[in-house]
Amino acid sequence: MALRLFNTMSSQIEEFRPLRDQEVRMYACGPTVYDYGHVGNFRTFVAVDLLRRFFRQSGYAVRHVMNITDVDDKIIRNAASDGVSVQQYTAKYEKAFLEDAAMIGIEEPMLVRATEHIPEMAVFVSKLVEKGFAYRSDDGSYYFRIAKFPQYGKLSKKDFSGMLDGARVDVDEYDKDSARDFALWKAPKPGEASWDTPIGPGRPGWHLECSVMSMEELGETFDLHAGGEDLVFPHHENEIAQSESLTGKPFARFWFHARFLLVEGEKMSKSLGNFFTLRDLVLKGHKPSSIRYLLTSVPYRSQLNFTFDGLKQAAVSVERLRNFRLRLSAGNFSPGATSQMQALAEQSVERMTGALDDDLNTAQAQAAIFEMVRQANAAFDTGGIKQDDVPPLLSALTKFDEIFAVLDDDDVPKMERVLDWAVSEGREKDISDELRAALQSGQLSDADIEKKIAEMQAARAARDFKASDAIRAELAEAGILVEITKDGIRWRRK
Ligand code: AMP
Ligand code: ZN
Repeated sequence: MALRLFNTMSSQIEEFRPLRDQEVRMYACGPTVYDYGHVGNFRTFVAVDLLRRFFRQSGYAVRHVMNITDVDDKIIRNAASDGVSVQQYTAKYEKAFLEDAAMIGIEEPMLVRATEHIPEMAVFVSKLVEKGFAYRSDDGSYYFRIAKFPQYGKLSKKDFSGMLDGARVDVDEYDKDSARDFALWKAPKPGEASWDTPIGPGRPGWHLECSVMSMEELGETFDLHAGGEDLVFPHHENEIAQSESLTGKPFARFWFHARFLLVEGEKMSKSLGNFFTLRDLVLKGHKPSSIRYLLTSVPYRSQLNFTFDGLKQAAVSVERLRNFRLRLSAGNFSPGATSQMQALAEQSVERMTGALDDDLNTAQAQAAIFEMVRQANAAFDTGGIKQDDVPPLLSALTKFDEIFAVLDDDDVPKMERVLDWAVSEGREKDISDELRAALQSGQLSDADIEKKIAEMQAARAARDFKASDAIRAELAEAGILVEITKDGIRWRRK
């Protein structure tokens, strides 16, 4: 089966095939770097990361470009009030964004920065003017003339037919020939950062940057354009208008939009106190892997309700998968293979791939791997797994993790970095006891703990209970609870 994806342009699920045989060219709108990214932003970025990883697993080479919006009104205002240059201001948040993205397992796309493409943007505007799609206002700003692009609204399915040239919808409208005309290029106000270009001084509009940089890196027509659902209108609609009026060719073939994340059922907002950056969540003691897992647990086209209960559940799920992998790689199995386990591994991979092929149904892909773990764990306890069953089961987990990227136990160093950052920013008061406790118990990786448990088992077998108790006490100190049952020794983190 081939990948089928919902295309916002056609409002339908379509079979996805790239234009060039084996290469997917995709562009995702990136962050505006004026603050730390919040968990909603990362829902969209993780969804795009998952898509990119699945393209690769499906055999495509992927050229994935993402912009960094490093100049806009807010940035200019904030930089001025901090008394620093735009570049100094954005450098800090761009770095933070890249660190956060890496923390949550996002593979780095090719990055393009608005401020590094100003001359190309000016050329683009002047070409639009030449073709009659853009005009200059008295103050030196440039606007796109929407009346010249009758397909305007085709992505968002908004009907603009009643709003022709001259319709008045906002107070600034006297500036423009049409109420819907949008700024391509903004002339500087006194004291504002601006660039000198052949079309005059100013700075690019946000829509313009994405059109110019995506086509520059990926060609006039490329395979897929992604972003959060709020970008459909006006951002993506405007990108289409600018790009297609200039080239006369279709811009992006597929439009991929992630639905919004809510927090505890509400829109995230600072005033409601439910606005969380990734760093806020880690400071509360949550692991990056739990956050990533939770963000991927709801298919990207469904609204995701982010709750702290859900986050705890996600932590348990990740732990379960990690423990299963350890159990497989550390266990002793009798020689041979079983047809049940061989079939289970094979069918689980098929179900997982089938679910992802079905418009990235991540929930079903996760359900498939959990069903495998449930059945294999049951078989484990009754000796139903043989030596040669281990590689296919492990390889199913690997395949899962190529997409979901939560199995490697690297949470502790990542959390330590957030803690160090909080200290360096003078935010010690935000470091929760939970984070400190998690770091303490997390000092031992799962593999370390398994090793200690094996030593404990060996000591007990040799009836050296003193040694066994010493190991147990050492583990307790590190926040690991050890339970001795008739079936063996179990452990969990406190
Ligand atoms: P921004 O930095 O505001 O331009 O946003 C970066 C990305 O995050 C865009 O693709 C937005 O659509 C997306 N985004 C913003 N808020 C949310 C949210 N609550 N849920 C999902 N995606 C979001
Ligand atoms: Zn964009």
